[in-house]
Amino acid sequence: MTVQNQATTFSFQAEIKQLLRLMVHSLYSNREIFLRELISNASDANDKLRFEALATPDLLEDRPELEIRVMLDSEAGTLSVTDSGIGMSADDIVAQLGTIAHSGTAQFLDKLTGEARHDAQLIGQFGVGFYSAFVVADEVEVESRRAGFAAGDGVRWVSDGQGEYTVEQIDKPDRGTRVTLKLKDDAREFLDTLMIRQLIHKYSDHIAFPVRLSESGDFTAPAEAVNDGKALWTRPRTEISDEEYIEFYKHTAHDFTAPLIWSHNRVEGKREYTSLLYVPSAAPFDLWNREAPRGVKLYVQRVFISDEATQFLPLFLRFIRGIVDADDLSLNVSRELLQQDPNVAAIKSALTKRVLEMLDKLAQEEPEKYVTFWKEFGTVLKEGLAEDTANREKIAGLMRFNSTRSDGFAQDRSLREYLDSAPSEQSEIYFLIGESPAAARGSPHLEALRDRGAEVLLLSDRIDEWVMQYLREFSGKQFKDVARGSPGPSSGVEADAAGSETKEQRQLLKRVKRVLRDAVDEVRISNRLKESPACLVFNEDELGFQMRELLKASGHEAPTTAPSLELNEAHALVARLAAEKQEPQFEALSRLIFEQALLLEGQQLEDPAAFVRRVNELLTDPDTGAAQDTA
Ligand code: ADP
Repeated sequence: MTVQNQATTFSFQAEIKQLLRLMVHSLYSNREIFLRELISNASDANDKLRFEALATPDLLEDRPELEIRVMLDSEAGTLSVTDSGIGMSADDIVAQLGTIAHSGTAQFLDKLTGEARHDAQLIGQFGVGFYSAFVVADEVEVESRRAGFAAGDGVRWVSDGQGEYTVEQIDKPDRGTRVTLKLKDDAREFLDTLMIRQLIHKYSDHIAFPVRLSESGDFTAPAEAVNDGKALWTRPRTEISDEEYIEFYKHTAHDFTAPLIWSHNRVEGKREYTSLLYVPSAAPFDLWNREAPRGVKLYVQRVFISDEATQFLPLFLRFIRGIVDADDLSLNVSRELLQQDPNVAAIKSALTKRVLEMLDKLAQEEPEKYVTFWKEFGTVLKEGLAEDTANREKIAGLMRFNSTRSDGFAQDRSLREYLDSAPSEQSEIYFLIGESPAAARGSPHLEALRDRGAEVLLLSDRIDEWVMQYLREFSGKQFKDVARGSPGPSSGVEADAAGSETKEQRQLLKRVKRVLRDAVDEVRISNRLKESPACLVFNEDELGFQMRELLKASGHEAPTTAPSLELNEAHALVARLAAEKQEPQFEALSRLIFEQALLLEGQQLEDPAAFVRRVNELLTDPDTGAAQDTA
């Protein structure tokens, strides 16, 4: 892009216009956070320059000091935040301040309701950033020069936040960025030195750069630093207050809401590093986007290296935020080198353990917060059961299930609780996978077990069948899918009755199988049903409905094997079937029973119209309810 010497006008992306309008309205009671956001951006810009200067020292020009300066000008009614960091080119400024690159933007905007408190919470989660300046300012001016560019290649960006902004080329001898807010009349309190000093303390005591405050218009005049300019994680734990930890989290994670828990550790000895890891209290909008930015911030000997160091935590812990500061890595580490570095692998394994311990602590000590955690991130953590063999037992201990003993659909039972309340002679952990929480809870497979009072874990996440293929035992007890195979003797449900059938039973089963043909593997008499006429059962080693769908969705062939149909002899409908002499009626009834069983599994029928016709014929004229279609 070529920038002109005179200002050119641009229009904000439509989403930004909408966001700006909503933000100004809903953040009103929280508006001081604009200062945190601007100081945070300034600190990031300094970090980025320090990193680039490792390879290109000339970028520091003749001003190596990296600092942040807040200036108040009560005459002009302005507040400005200046950094000596990386700066922005004209292209950068248009791309970064004129568009939102956030992947979930449209989805996020849809969730806003116009109700201030609700929206403020969401906007905070989304990250308010630079635009929060418009909550207190009528006009925002950004002057910037990219480090390494000539003094004449500076750029000025000005907007009143209404829909347009202007960009022009300017002379800017000092590199970096200055953001100047022309404060609204009702925001003049932010010109008060004492108040701003307090806010700087609050928001930047953990920042690794001096933040200076001056009241004169001359930003080169000496001014004392308000903060001590020491990175938070380098200080001893005992000297850091919870408030400081929380502020630091908000700064690094660009999150508005306090984290649930954190863990700060310094490791010495063979490998030396410091980690400060946080569990957020809400999932980001792009948690499910596997390409979304994630990972911790990496520093090497206090120097910022990268924003998204993904090598230090496994994928199933991608929701963790924070920093790792390693002493033993080279300052010139590249992504590829990080991947191969044995130090990194060792740190990753130690951090994984540390996070799992932190979660366990949260579960033990603050169960209510743990519920929040599980709701937000449980499905991601679960992936660890498949991916991390070494920590499987620990991860399993952190899982929470909906069960036949849960309060409604709450996922509130742990495996420990399950085992503690199960009778000692019960040798297995029962579970059932359903298409939805309601389908699982209403499954016919639960009937006999419910009668005995046995607890069954109810799973219905899309990935549960996949995950449960890996989770075979916990605390020495095997898992048992109650919808599969024959219910073993230990389940208290008598073993498969096949072989001990009477002649009439055998005849009935054969007739039904003849009707259903390849749609079912076997037809047999069931011992697991009480109220339902029938259910479908897969063998132990066969793929279930969920895995078949996952396969199909990813373009693979699903296996052609079919489930078996089990009939409940005690059910009136099955008795009627057995007594049915007319072949067309028998066929219609057999199909109906089979289709009902499919529906109970949450499955789609291949020919729903035929099903509805059959039901209606039976309803209107039960005696001649024979379907004409016998396809
Ligand atoms: P975020 O910081 O969460 O990315 P912002 O809206 O605060 O979102 O900023 C958008 C982008 O603008 C930043 O990612 C950064 O690239 C750029 N930016 C903002 N402030 C500065 C600054 N002081 N120096 C350099 N770049 C900046």
